[in-house]
Amino acid sequence: MKITNEVHLIDGLNCNCYLVLLKSELILIDTGMPNNEKKVIDYIEKVLNRKATELKTIIITHHHLDHVGNANELKKLTGAKIAMSEKDGMVLSGKIKPKFNRNLATFVYKIFMKFFGFKKVNPDIVLKNADMVKEFEVISTPGHTEGSISLYDKKRKIMFVGDLMGCKNGKIISAPKMFSLDMEENKKSIEKVSKYKINIMLSGHSDPVLKDVNKLIEDYLKS
Ligand SMILES: [Zn+2]
Repeated sequence: MKITNEVHLIDGLNCNCYLVLLKSELILIDTGMPNNEKKVIDYIEKVLNRKATELKTIIITHHHLDHVGNANELKKLTGAKIAMSEKDGMVLSGKIKPKFNRNLATFVYKIFMKFFGFKKVNPDIVLKNADMVKEFEVISTPGHTEGSISLYDKKRKIMFVGDLMGCKNGKIISAPKMFSLDMEENKKSIEKVSKYKINIMLSGHSDPVLKDVNKLIEDYLKS
């Protein structure tokens, strides 16, 4: 689905995955639940009529399975490099254990990882706050996970927020409590993001927010 000429949303992956179309290459933000890599490749080849090998960078907003599920397979199929934050990269490469603040979330996470036989993902590029990755400014937005990041496209005024927040019935909603580590910290991260001029907000699980983004975020922060 086309959001703008240069940003497309790939549906049906149990997580919104965004393809950014640059002239010389493609960038994918988040990858969806495991076993869906073919959908991404089909979108690139059949909908966009471009080559899968044009996908050069895969950026992961945070370590949750629905965002990172096809990263390894897509890397194998396209040769793309995987970029993510240091903290969540350490979780995905198995160096540290993921943290949740509810036992039920830890339990559900373990079951999913086992069910999908999920393997480690090693970052090729480690992202820090204020880094530039291609055209995006990396903004460290912890709370949902320790290493959650948002990505700001200054040229197009688009903010990719992962699971930092979403939008429901015309209102901004926070990251889902059940799977979030620290809601207070999450709110501080939303405040951080609110300082940017945003025309379009693209999140992990809501429809695109195409107008009044800054005002909606302000309303959320006031409530
Ligand atoms: Zn998440």
